Amino acid sequence: MDYDRLEKLLASEKMPKYRLDQIRKAIFRDGVSSFSEILTLPRIFREELDEEVDILSFFPEKALKSLDGRSIKILLKLKDGKYIETVLISPKPGIWSACVSSQIGCPMGCQFCATGKGGFVRNLTSEEIIDQILFWKQHLKKNKISGIFSNIVFMGMGEPFLNWKEVSKSIKDLTDPKLFGFGSRSISVSTVGIREGIEKIAKEFPQVNLAISLHFGNNKKRSEYMPINKDYDLNNIKNSISCYFQKTRRKIFLEYIMLADINDSQKDADDLIKFIRSIDDNYLLHLNLIKYNETSGKFVPSTGTKMNEFKNYLVSREISVTIRKSLGEDIQGACGQLAGKN
Ligand code: SF4
Repeated sequence: MDYDRLEKLLASEKMPKYRLDQIRKAIFRDGVSSFSEILTLPRIFREELDEEVDILSFFPEKALKSLDGRSIKILLKLKDGKYIETVLISPKPGIWSACVSSQIGCPMGCQFCATGKGGFVRNLTSEEIIDQILFWKQHLKKNKISGIFSNIVFMGMGEPFLNWKEVSKSIKDLTDPKLFGFGSRSISVSTVGIREGIEKIAKEFPQVNLAISLHFGNNKKRSEYMPINKDYDLNNIKNSISCYFQKTRRKIFLEYIMLADINDSQKDADDLIKFIRSIDDNYLLHLNLIKYNETSGKFVPSTGTKMNEFKNYLVSREISVTIRKSLGEDIQGACGQLAGKN
């Protein structure tokens, strides 16, 4: 929602300040879908607001719900006709997390990712980012879905640190007690390892969680499948992690998508262990092994047995690791599957 516009409109109408508080609560906390639902406002003013201010900066087009009911993906048409996707996931009963997009497409070109295949179109504005959260709030309310909307993860389409100006503004709005009021620790940002971004988040939002999409513990392989490794290789990531730890003393999550016969051998595990052990304070690192979610392409997920063997090998070398359950695969709404197509 164009919040600045709303504030200006209220000022021009000489509305008392408490009217803005009423609107903020209704929209950002309660998830109303239109001003006409805010019955505490004078009727004439509700109508004027509905005419003048769009609560959402896009039009929801197609919704898909996973068979287990724990993931919902929505295709959103932006005002310039471009598309993005966002996903709502229930990691535990009664808990909801939103996975938001920060760009249309992605310039990083990771070979195993559906978003990367489509190339980069443009950055999203902070309004388009926070409206994804407003949309999910409205969805939960409209569909009478109970539970707590507790987490936001920047793991949808795009590399958040390549759009930091808008992403950081959206984090400010999400954590603003007068707007959404999410706790900083309930927000996570995931990056392929952009050093400047890691430095900025450590300085500006030390309480927001950081995840690094590592996927390989060996530079040669990482460069082969993730072109960004030529600019931000493992040594660069190691230095970024050390700086982050010095500034925040907070945990970092390393994400590792498991691809059959590509990064799931014992040699791959040894490379990963070597990389992790080379980092000071590596007790602050936690590794998430993620099943690869198939997109059309040449990659195949590692088997469950292989993932367990890989995990057990790492555990036996005292690496902090879990296998993270991936939700929404059947609706192409899982990690790496968002393509923003209608
Ligand atoms: S994995 Fe992330 S960084 Fe890589 S192409 Fe996909 S969206 Fe971009």
